[in-house]
Amino acid sequence: MAQKPSHIREFQKRFPDEDSCLNHLMRTRFGERFTCFKCLKESTYYRVRGRRSFECEHCGYQVYPTAGTPFEKTRTSLRDWFYVMFLFCTTRNGVAAKEVERQLGVTYKTAWRMCRLIRAYMGYVDGDYPLGGPGKKVEADETFIGGRDLNGAPDDKAVVLGIVERGGDVVTRYIFDRSACNIAPNVKKFVKQGSRINTDDWTGYQVLTERHGYEVETVNHSAKEYVRGDVHTNTIESFWSQVKRGISGTYVWVSKKHLQTYLREFEYRHNLRQQPALMFELLLQAFPKVQVE
Ligand SMILES: [Zn+2]
Repeated sequence: MAQKPSHIREFQKRFPDEDSCLNHLMRTRFGERFTCFKCLKESTYYRVRGRRSFECEHCGYQVYPTAGTPFEKTRTSLRDWFYVMFLFCTTRNGVAAKEVERQLGVTYKTAWRMCRLIRAYMGYVDGDYPLGGPGKKVEADETFIGGRDLNGAPDDKAVVLGIVERGGDVVTRYIFDRSACNIAPNVKKFVKQGSRINTDDWTGYQVLTERHGYEVETVNHSAKEYVRGDVHTNTIESFWSQVKRGISGTYVWVSKKHLQTYLREFEYRHNLRQQPALMFELLLQAFPKVQVE
């Protein structure tokens, strides 16, 4: 069931200040009470004033909840991080660093770094799991994204392969070119055997056959055939439109070097489209656990 996306007021109420964010991080990662890492007693950790740490009620051992998270080594406040993550989850077309710069009053460089890190983090939380399975429909298609060079002249475009399970998740890969040797290995990696793969008539997919455990059905785009019964690539194509709207509308220009990270951001929103309220929630809960000696 679709849930309503979080509202900005709810965000402000939940995270009114830095302390509320730090508390959230501490409780999410360690819980209310836990066995102290040093004295090994059941303990409640209390906030240490003036620091981003909490200390054991028995032995005073301090834990920094930001350690091991993406926020560990930044001077940016946690609340700013949370707020920008919130923006990423409540927009359809992405968040421009310029907008973050303006809203937070940080430098463009800081804003850009925050956005890059959040995109990578969204990719980490989303993961890339194999799609499809026996009898399931998967669409595969590649597209060109880009590109202008620094002088504004048209650049050579980047090729991106997209694979989507109908009604399910999407996986994308920036690939060197659209030859079979770049397409086929990725399809094999991200599509489970037994799937029915829908593609267009591009030769890059023709090596995928029953021998590889797939049933491949194609629509002949060169002959202007776009749908034949339930064979089509409309799902992946509407995903491409979303990505292109975001990239040309919000980001204007994306270098090949960073393209995959941008794609992860769009994957994340697509894969959680039916539970938009979870988008922000998962980012708030997936902090990797720290290793404590
Ligand atoms: Zn202790």
